[in-house]
Amino acid sequence: MREVQARAGTGQVVVVGAGIAGLAAAHRLLERGARVTVLEASGRVGGKLLPGEVAGARVDLGAESMLARRPEAVALARAVGLADRLQPPATATASIWTRGALRPMPKGHVMGVPGTAAALSGVLSDEGLARIERDAELPRTEVGDDVAVGEYVAARLGREVVDRLVEPLLGGVYAGDAYRISMRSAVPQLFQAARDHASLTEGVREIQAKAAAAQQTGPVFMGLRGGVGTLPLAVAESVRARGGEILTGTPVTELRRVAPPDPANATGPRAVWRVVAGERVLHADAVVLAVPAPVAARLLRTETPEAAAELDAVEYASMALVTLAYRRAETALPDGSGFLVPPVDGRTIKASTFASQKWGWITEESPDLVVLRTSVGRYGETEILRRDDAELVEVSRHDLKAATGLDAAPVATRVTRWDDGLPQYPVGHHARVARIREHVARLPGLAVCGAPYDGVGIPACIASAYAAVDQIHGDLRGVEELTAHPVQSLHGGAGE
Ligand SMILES: Cc1cc2nc3c(=O)[nH]c(=O)nc-3n(C[C@H](O)[C@H](O)[C@H](O)COP(=O)(O)OP(=O)(O)OC[C@H]3O[C@@H](n4cnc5c(N)ncnc54)[C@H](O)[C@@H]3O)c2cc1C
Repeated sequence: MREVQARAGTGQVVVVGAGIAGLAAAHRLLERGARVTVLEASGRVGGKLLPGEVAGARVDLGAESMLARRPEAVALARAVGLADRLQPPATATASIWTRGALRPMPKGHVMGVPGTAAALSGVLSDEGLARIERDAELPRTEVGDDVAVGEYVAARLGREVVDRLVEPLLGGVYAGDAYRISMRSAVPQLFQAARDHASLTEGVREIQAKAAAAQQTGPVFMGLRGGVGTLPLAVAESVRARGGEILTGTPVTELRRVAPPDPANATGPRAVWRVVAGERVLHADAVVLAVPAPVAARLLRTETPEAAAELDAVEYASMALVTLAYRRAETALPDGSGFLVPPVDGRTIKASTFASQKWGWITEESPDLVVLRTSVGRYGETEILRRDDAELVEVSRHDLKAATGLDAAPVATRVTRWDDGLPQYPVGHHARVARIREHVARLPGLAVCGAPYDGVGIPACIASAYAAVDQIHGDLRGVEELTAHPVQSLHGGAGE
């Protein structure tokens, strides 16, 4: 094996994974004066953020939108020089394809949960609307330490709200199942409202009043000209410009806490991290794991089997995105940014984004094309993903025609598969994450971050990366502190 670096004792940090979380961690670490090496298994940086093209038009083939109501993603884009490329969606209207028609997405709800029954008129049946009214009379529904979003909302407002709104909205984020997803982790404002109020609609009205009082202005979401997929490329460039090293095609296979390579150095640390990536062996004072849960589990199995066991239990949903480009002259679409499809309506696609209508830059760059994308696959729904690319294009065209009347032949299509793309947050997820963090914190100089922990959205992943950096910052502040820290486990010396 080749010892590429043995700079432990100098504030060397290895970041494993160059998705947005790993890159954000590397960026922040360099700001704090650490030396950073990022190791990425695949041949590119970005993970679930992937810029691409269809029929010559630049598009996102992975994540495409960043929540702007929390600061992390937009601030990172600005910090790496993309301020002038930030662009809000060109339209804020969307639809829901339910009960046989495209219906305007209601406004005034929190993840599909309304403050009043009237807010959902047009989407729900009359019986569904009447059932919402009963919320005011029902006795309190206890939520305990956590509860499934679907179970709680159905108990308060009836299943129709869950099936026609909450499910497709949550599904758009988690590709999950509303009757399994944790309310505490996925929609914490609703969880708090459920604790504070007997009536859920009253709780939602309070959330809305607070938001109005806070006068949150500006777009809720932001994109980037060229695609959100360009964000990790810019962060990677900034990391390299600050002296960080990023090695792609370098899967990490082993992580151990060992005696330092130079034990004779009295001022050096008493224990370091030994990171094995193929033929490379690196020694570092600290390691940030920014990889999916199964990979983190594998890498932590020796040092903290308890954390590994918890990580093994994190489940994932797979999905595929079908991107289709049409000649503009042959294409007429309804207004808006696209539509969501409740599973209860029995269609194959679960959503469609009218990318050219949603993002002005796509139309500016490719005025003769209309670009759309559909998504297929949800948690536990794997059969559809066994179909080949041509079939996924076919089912997408079939559903698009039924929803919008679009019957033209696309000039180009692309299928992007995201196997195990989204971690699931079932009831009790927050407690599992707390246990993982507790086990990890027992090992000085180790931190975890990314989608499996505090939220799957881009800003949440970046926030978890910054929290990971804060966690190991104490260890790095003076490597002497690390030196003085009792070593918990040593597995032989360097070069073993
Ligand atoms: C199809 C899709 C659409 C989405 N759309 C949106 C959206 O519009 N807006 C939004 O906010 N969020 C969206 N999300 C969620 C969001 O994109 C992800 O949760 C987030 O990008 C995850 O970032 P991450 O860095 O935690 O993980 P990842 O992006 O998964 O990065 C982890 C990295 O670790 C690498 N790796 C794995 N094993 C190893 C190893 N052994 N050694 C070294 N490296 C390794 C991987 O190759 C990968 O590059 C979407 C997700 C998907 C799948």
